[in-house]
Amino acid sequence: MALDPVDEAVDGQWADLLSPARRRLIRDTGLAAGALALAGLATPVRAGDAVTGAADAGKNYAEPPHKPGESPWGYETYKQPTPRPAGIRPHEPSLPAAPRAYTDIKSYHAHIYFDEDSYQKAALIRRWSAERFLVELGDWNTQPRGPHTTPSFYFGFGTELFPKVVPWLQLNSLGLTILIHPNTVDPRADHLYYALWVNRSQPVNAFDWPTLEQRKELTVEQIYPNTKPHIALET
Ligand code: ZN
Repeated sequence: MALDPVDEAVDGQWADLLSPARRRLIRDTGLAAGALALAGLATPVRAGDAVTGAADAGKNYAEPPHKPGESPWGYETYKQPTPRPAGIRPHEPSLPAAPRAYTDIKSYHAHIYFDEDSYQKAALIRRWSAERFLVELGDWNTQPRGPHTTPSFYFGFGTELFPKVVPWLQLNSLGLTILIHPNTVDPRADHLYYALWVNRSQPVNAFDWPTLEQRKELTVEQIYPNTKPHIALET
């Protein structure tokens, strides 16, 4: 099944609303990229795109140029056709032809989320983890950081630890929300499409995060263990 055909007029309308750089992208990369740009209303502004005017200062999206006192979106948004969002499997416009190899996953991160009422639980999970597992333990983040929308800390671990770390976190989450995501060449998809959650899930901010097609180098996050485990894992 191919992508829905792109309506040239609609394509042009959107391109006009967006930046000249985006228009170039659509023209140069052809139908598929154009359709993606159309479908992805939240398509991030790429580095190098002209951001339109001072109206964008402090905003995490670009507004088309507009006069003060007028809607930046114009007065015909009610006429816009409904765009089709990208599919569940990123980068594949239709049903995939074959499953992916699990060996595409090179390591994992566990992100533990907390707030001012639950930080002591997070501290306990942090200490217990570092005492038991050889992992790469990151800093405390007391503010939203990157895709993480609440305070958090994380540790990275090798795939060989997955059968121990994941059940251990399931039993020792203390009720906190934990995101476990794989590390592949596509960090955006790792967080949005390939994640596991312990307890409730929470929003992940993927704004301005390059898609696989937009990434220049296909590197995978490396894990450099930095803990000194000294307590044998309880069994
Ligand atoms: Zn992570």
